[in-house]
Amino acid sequence: GLPVLAVVGRPNVGKSTLVNRVLGRREAVVQDRPGVTRDRVSYPAEWVGRRFTIVDTGGWEVDVEGLEASVASQAEVAVELADAVLLVVDAQVGITEADAQVVRLLRRSGKPVVLAANKVDSPAQEGDAAALWNLGLGEPYPVSALHGRGSGEVLDACMEVL
Ligand code: GDP
Ligand code: MG
Repeated sequence: GLPVLAVVGRPNVGKSTLVNRVLGRREAVVQDRPGVTRDRVSYPAEWVGRRFTIVDTGGWEVDVEGLEASVASQAEVAVELADAVLLVVDAQVGITEADAQVVRLLRRSGKPVVLAANKVDSPAQEGDAAALWNLGLGEPYPVSALHGRGSGEVLDACMEVL
């Protein structure tokens, strides 16, 4: 089958917005607030002539283990099924414990990871993206999924590892 790119990260960082950007249409459901239960959703996608499957890990539930554990378990299944992972972090918020938890999981998986520093809506916010070097995943690609800024570069990087 086609190579699989899983888009993971804690709720509200802009995963679905970025998936829509890749698809060139509004198919992944964008939520203004976290906590809406939804399954992982796979979409056929194409970038620079390469066809692949992109998986939006939109589903999570706030259960007894807490939000962070749920995010991690959702991401874990998606990562297991993926050939490469696009980790989305909200550069405006910076690194949270939930982000750190997903990163630990990604390290254990051994899968190639591309880091999207999302919500970098203007050049002035690029310093926020640079702070994400601290995650230890290499270069953070500054992206504005909302406006499309930088999305080509991060997708090119994904194609290199997919
Ligand atoms: P998800 O939970 O990670 O899938 O995040 P969503 O894609 O549903 O987005 C959560 C919120 O962040 C929505 O209100 C989006 O409009 C907003 N958002 C997503 N990407 C960006 C971005 O690049 N810049 C800004 N300012 N907001 C964004
Ligand atoms: Mg989503």
